[in-house]
Amino acid sequence: MPRPKPLIPKTYLDWQQKVLARDLFTCQICGKNHHQVQLEAHHIKPYYKNPKLRLDINNGKTLCNTCHKEQHRKGWKNAQKTNN
Ligand SMILES: [Zn+2]
Ligand SMILES: [Zn+2]
Repeated sequence: MPRPKPLIPKTYLDWQQKVLARDLFTCQICGKNHHQVQLEAHHIKPYYKNPKLRLDINNGKTLCNTCHKEQHRKGWKNAQKTNN
């Protein structure tokens, strides 16, 4: 029987933890910390265009989920456009 794949790979979670720790668990846009908001690690350069940067901590940025959504709304828009 095939094993179900984990939804989020452990390597990705490790990367996220490292990015959050480096940024001292603080959103790099609004400055809120993990006690106030839910934090996520954002890829500065889209990883689908730069697969090697997917697990590069220097390509990660700590954002709260609100700022993260906002960032994708404007940040990756152009990248997605040119990709299509
Ligand atoms: Zn934020
Ligand atoms: Zn992101």
